Amino acid sequence: MARFRQKHNTILDFGLGTGGLVLFVLLVSVLCPICSEDEETVSHVFCLCPVAVSIWELVLRWLHLTSNFGTGPEDVFQWVDGARMTGDKKKMLEVIVCTTMWALWRFRNDKLHDARLLRKDTLFDFIQDVSFCWFNSRQSKYRIAWVDWLKNPFLFCNL
Ligand SMILES: [Zn+2]
Repeated sequence: MARFRQKHNTILDFGLGTGGLVLFVLLVSVLCPICSEDEETVSHVFCLCPVAVSIWELVLRWLHLTSNFGTGPEDVFQWVDGARMTGDKKKMLEVIVCTTMWALWRFRNDKLHDARLLRKDTLFDFIQDVSFCWFNSRQSKYRIAWVDWLKNPFLFCNL
């Protein structure tokens, strides 16, 4: 199989079949489907894409936290692991961070497949909503109220 980078940021793959003929041609865009400004990599989608940067800023502001995530998801998970919080508050942070990552991935897939189920202007609301449901469904001994979750879940967490 051969692969050539084309103009317009596409990759052309082709190979030979058993009869020696060209079997397939596949055009794959390597640009981020969200911003179309840079090559799509794991780091770009989850941390460096302008949409990801703005979403992480909203999440950190919501939680009254600061962080320099670095350049990739590994840095985000290292930050979570190193966060100085009690075990249960850290679980809350894990749920919110994982929800944010999942929402960014889903947003990317929606853009790529033209599903348009998630909109950029409602992505942060979606993260708050889903993380609230996931956190409360994981907790049998403690539940946080929706209105408190929206303000800052850490302020109302008695864990
Ligand atoms: Zn991007």
